[in-house]
Amino acid sequence: MHELSIAQALVEQVEAVIRTHHALRASLIRVRVGPLAGVVPELLAHAFPLAAAGSRMEHAELALVKAPVRVLCERCGAESEAAMNRLLCAECGDWHTRIVSGDELLLESVELETAASPSPAS
Ligand SMILES: [Zn+2]
Repeated sequence: MHELSIAQALVEQVEAVIRTHHALRASLIRVRVGPLAGVVPELLAHAFPLAAAGSRMEHAELALVKAPVRVLCERCGAESEAAMNRLLCAECGDWHTRIVSGDELLLESVELETAASPSPAS
């Protein structure tokens, strides 16, 4: 399962953040997923608890933020939002476009719990 290896990579990434901030655990993990990332958010949401079992983010909430698809038009130069199966320029309707975002899979933010105080560790 593709999403499980992504979830495992995510756990490693968050583990590094926890270590860096000397935190106890992560409480909220926000991940930005573009529709062209090749990831099914629902499958990732199911895979995450398996990957996180026994780790310091075992009870963390995973928030998947869906990113829009944006294209840059090679004809008119406009950047616009597009549907994932119809990468047309919203300005002039041309199909000579380049994807500028929508294929990302990014760890956007992590909320941490620290031993010392309830203030957020940034
Ligand atoms: Zn255009």
